[in-house]
Amino acid sequence: MKIAPPDSVVERVLPSVEAFLTAPLMVIGREFVPAASGNTYTVFNPATGKPLAQVPAAASEDVERAVAAARAAFAGPWGRLPPVQRQAVMLRLADLIEEHGEELAQLETLNNGKSITLSRLVEVQSSVEYVRYMAGWATKIEGSTLDVSIPIPPGMRYQAFTRKEPVGVVAAITPWNFPLTMACWKVAPALAAGCTVVLKPAEETPLTSIRLAQLCLEAGIPEGVVNVITGLGEDAGAPLVAHPGVSKISFTGSTETGKRIGIQAMRDMKRVTLELGGKAPMLMFDDMDLDLLGVAAGVGSFFNTGQTCCAGVRIYAQKGIHDRVLDTLSAVTRRLSIGSGLDPRNQINPLVSARHKAHVQACIARGVADGARPVIAGSAPDEGYYVAPELFTDVRQDMALMQDEVFGPVITVTPFHDEDEAIRLANDTRYGLGASIWTGNLNTVMRCVPQIQAGTVWVNSHNLPDQNMPFGGFKQSGIGREHGRGALDNYLETKSVCVAFR
Ligand code: NAD
Repeated sequence: MKIAPPDSVVERVLPSVEAFLTAPLMVIGREFVPAASGNTYTVFNPATGKPLAQVPAAASEDVERAVAAARAAFAGPWGRLPPVQRQAVMLRLADLIEEHGEELAQLETLNNGKSITLSRLVEVQSSVEYVRYMAGWATKIEGSTLDVSIPIPPGMRYQAFTRKEPVGVVAAITPWNFPLTMACWKVAPALAAGCTVVLKPAEETPLTSIRLAQLCLEAGIPEGVVNVITGLGEDAGAPLVAHPGVSKISFTGSTETGKRIGIQAMRDMKRVTLELGGKAPMLMFDDMDLDLLGVAAGVGSFFNTGQTCCAGVRIYAQKGIHDRVLDTLSAVTRRLSIGSGLDPRNQINPLVSARHKAHVQACIARGVADGARPVIAGSAPDEGYYVAPELFTDVRQDMALMQDEVFGPVITVTPFHDEDEAIRLANDTRYGLGASIWTGNLNTVMRCVPQIQAGTVWVNSHNLPDQNMPFGGFKQSGIGREHGRGALDNYLETKSVCVAFR
């Protein structure tokens, strides 16, 4: 079974998906297990608001077992496997993700609510490509040879070199917005580096992570190398972060949780990578190609129903084009079709949970109460977790709507006069994940890029991460970078070796 064409409607979910939903269990070692307590919790279908599956609710005891399995695997055959064999099993894993592509895509859409097209192309296909890309790095880990100038004792000479060694057991903690993708962004470089993993997916969206761990076993990745525990952040995530058997924490999620995890990691001096929230600006200059506005809104702002960490939600348009930008984006926003992700014609899908829907609605209400002007005032289906897309004007920089992450289909359009003002407005945020510049003038681009405080700056595009481009945040958007060769270093220690000889 491969991925169906991106635009085909899911009329009926696959029998394999239905079968999986009856009893998704955690993966620890080579066993599929319930929580030690026997407790479960319910995950929901965001399109209907109805229960989708009962999932194990892990706690400390389960963390203990999973870390023990990961440590045993690290000390065992996985630690001794030649890089070329790690590469081979990772390539087999990528093939299996591809083979089970339609099943994984349907599972993701049922669990997260997102468009089946995004599940097929982003969650599945880009995960396949990411695992293949990272598999290639497994055979290219290298240190360096160093000449040193150590003076004593006379008659001795020294040669030094560095070795890159896997850091150990990795706690990979992921958010709900791109469940399979985020799991692969962490599992793949960890495996390439030779680490073992305990993956704790977001409580809302654990299903494709469980399938990923099952496929790891099927691919021939030894038992205990990839384990998955499911459960709440406080009950399962916190004890995992604090566990002494964990050497590295790779976290993607909110800035608030990231800070807590960072503090805990420093207590134990664990290695930590934090990919956190964002509030990305789009700077649209008078000379931009206005034909790109549809792409800016569709790919930049409303992609994944705005539940994207680098979504371009603060749109700043120069005075000369401001009214046209506002009119065009308002028209685009009004035309977006709202509905279930199983029908790829729907561009706005349900938000992930009832709680998140309430959060987005509260952000909109707060914006109105603070004096911002909603232009669209659309309506959304009552059943499920839908919120109609909204575009605000008259938004001041100090309003919560401008400063806090909404993480939904809500954008603001604000005018600016000149380049200096554009840069000042873009940087007036505690976040610094993504940004974009829209202009036909290369001089504007080259002047603005160094001044923008963001980990990625796109020019005449937005929201397009690539496996080869370092990805991460300035300021409170995080610490560290994923993707590219650097992603591997997140999972490696450097050891200096100094050899004395005559
Ligand atoms: P969240 O912080 O609520 O949860 C993320 C994960 O952390 C979940 O698995 C959760 O169970 C776990 N968790 C919660 N409390 C914990 C604790 N005390 N100890 C350990 N683990 C804990 O975030 P979310 O709502 O799931 O995801 C949305 C957020 O993720 C947004 O802020 C978004 O910007 C961010 N995000 C960032 C990137 C990036 O690359 N920078 C990518 C995607 C999403």
